[in-house]
Amino acid sequence: MSDCIFCKIINGEIPCAKVYEDEHVLAFMDIMQVTKGHTLVIPKVHKENVFELTPDISRNFFEAVTKVAKAVKKQLNPKGLNLINNNGEEAGQTVFHYHMHIIPRHGKEDGLG
Ligand code: 5GP
Ligand code: ZN
Repeated sequence: MSDCIFCKIINGEIPCAKVYEDEHVLAFMDIMQVTKGHTLVIPKVHKENVFELTPDISRNFFEAVTKVAKAVKKQLNPKGLNLINNNGEEAGQTVFHYHMHIIPRHGKEDGLG
């Protein structure tokens, strides 16, 4: 998708702070860090939301999400960690290329309540 920000990140048109990459998936730091270590994981194929995922894409994607979540836990040792995926504008989706937020929770210092 030529006008998709995340497709542009995948093809290198827009820079990102990459944390993980394999054949199917890319993970990078969210530009607006909700907490320290806030990371996005995206499939390399353009799919808008969870409803467009095939079993193969899901399998590869969640395998990578698990790897990245474990790496974040190992590196930052957060007290907890949220995995969040918004589907549709009503649900808070702003970038329409499927993605998972990995949000480490560091306790009171997050200011998230
Ligand atoms: P959504 O609201 O769709 O679930 O999340 C989209 C996320 O993408 C937001 O947290 C936003 O900060 C992030 N984002 C938007 N544009 C860019 C960008 O150009 N680079 C990076 N690294 N993150 C972005
Ligand atoms: Zn895209």
